[in-house]
Amino acid sequence: MLKGIAASQGIAVAKVYKLEQPVLDIVRKEANVDDELAKLDAAFAKTVEDIEKIKEVASKSLAAEELAVFDAHLMMAGDPELRSQIEDMIKNESVNAEFATEQVANMMVSIFESMDDAYMRERAADVKDVTFRLMCNICGKVIPNLATIDKPVVIVAKDLTPSDTGSLNKQFAKGFATEIGGRTSHSAIMARSLEIPAVVGVTGILEAAKEGDEVILDAINGEVILNPTAEQVAEFEKRAEEFKAEKEALKALKDKESVSVDGHKVLLVGNIGSPKDAEGVVENGGEGVGLFRTEFLYMKSEDWPDEETQFQAYKAVMETMNGKPVVIRTLDIGGDKKLNYYTFDEEMNPFLGVRAVRFCLMRKDIFRTQLRALLRASAYGHLCIMFPMIATVNEFKEAKQCYEDARAELIAEGVKVGDKVEVGCMIEIPAAAVLADQLSKYADFFSIGTNDLIQYSMAADRMSQPVSYLYQPLNPSILRLVKMTIDGAHKNGKWCGMCGEMAGDEIAAPVLLGLGLDEFSMSATSILRARKMINGLSYEAMKEMAEKAVCCDTAEEVQELVKASI
Ligand code: PEP
Ligand code: MG
Repeated sequence: MLKGIAASQGIAVAKVYKLEQPVLDIVRKEANVDDELAKLDAAFAKTVEDIEKIKEVASKSLAAEELAVFDAHLMMAGDPELRSQIEDMIKNESVNAEFATEQVANMMVSIFESMDDAYMRERAADVKDVTFRLMCNICGKVIPNLATIDKPVVIVAKDLTPSDTGSLNKQFAKGFATEIGGRTSHSAIMARSLEIPAVVGVTGILEAAKEGDEVILDAINGEVILNPTAEQVAEFEKRAEEFKAEKEALKALKDKESVSVDGHKVLLVGNIGSPKDAEGVVENGGEGVGLFRTEFLYMKSEDWPDEETQFQAYKAVMETMNGKPVVIRTLDIGGDKKLNYYTFDEEMNPFLGVRAVRFCLMRKDIFRTQLRALLRASAYGHLCIMFPMIATVNEFKEAKQCYEDARAELIAEGVKVGDKVEVGCMIEIPAAAVLADQLSKYADFFSIGTNDLIQYSMAADRMSQPVSYLYQPLNPSILRLVKMTIDGAHKNGKWCGMCGEMAGDEIAAPVLLGLGLDEFSMSATSILRARKMINGLSYEAMKEMAEKAVCCDTAEEVQELVKASI
């Protein structure tokens, strides 16, 4: 049994599917020209066959525009220019086929990467992808592919990229376990929105698990059991059924309010990464959207998304939420979130560098496009816009001025904008939490981003497994910063929400209620369980408990205190 962090709740019993990229150790060798040409020929044919198969499977779950990439790959695999360059090198230098392929690929990649046109630069990734497959086929190595899985499995990998997670087919991918990552890594966040059980940060899993082993993924307690006994399998299959039944029962709370036994009302809302996710929030009884991470719109685009594209995406969310509040965060790029079409300057500490609002204030052209799109969408419901990574009052004022300018521009153009847009500030840097009572003079609301607030307070990278023990939402130091932020908002009559993962944590929720948090934003699938809990708590009792919690020494002490109070 291996321990990890339960990142997305659920239980799965299936076979291990290892997602490991083959390692190719390619060296130059003298070789027989005819043999190498024959190998190359067979590898090209197999590459085309592989891509066609992947496309066929993917066509069942992906939209037409997402399938276009496979056509581009097929075209490249059939490109006579690519093939003749490799053949020429084999003939002229009598070298092995994989070496010639690697040389030609490197040359083509550097040509594409040096082009000015963003579309052409993107092609470098396609060349890498297709030629890597070609070299694997020459060397007889298999590339695992998530889209072609056709029986129930638990995926075991070092890490899953957000796009790996996005291509999982829920019918067969019953869960995943990864070596690295924490509760707040973006693949963990996506697993929760896809409702796929996940345990992350499982040290040693890649070494211990063999392809095809039977495995129990207990993503409630954060455990992975390899080659379980028949009794263990029976026990966990029963627990999985109970988990499913409990989820069904929670549906009765879908249209209920989130209110404590003594009448204190809060809002339970959902975090989303795409307009489609908003439907999940409605299905799970969310009273609004508390965080739309708009960067995913930018990440899956081929170039900066234009105003109209963004407007349509934001309007779709507003319409799905039908008048309920929708908090949309402006672009939060940098740190671990990269773009294919833009290269950030190298920095020693990207999480402490040009990220989020810092980037937007340096690139006001990009910021303006997004603000205009948001303002146009504001005519379709109750929009709240917030800026991520604000550190100072001046940064907030400058960002707010950009918003005012975009608004004045649209009004002068005769474009309809909403008249009750709220403009708020994310609190995810300790400096902003400490100065919350001043910031709230200018911001209409706060939303606490605890994923970053905790990493910056503890000086512990949220992507690092060895220091993941410092992700301590219940540490009294963090609770004090949260309290300062909530009190700071209330001092000037503003509301305070939280959209970091802490808001959906079942042990943290009673303390947050007691500290006076007004809005809790979490993955859609956590909303009903949180409502059930809040509906059973006394606000007055939680207030008393929270006062004691901020005076504890450790997170463990707070945990004991909460457990004794609920
Ligand atoms: C946060 O930092 O808590 C947050 C909600 O933003 P993200 O996880 O996208 O950085
Ligand atoms: Mg953040």
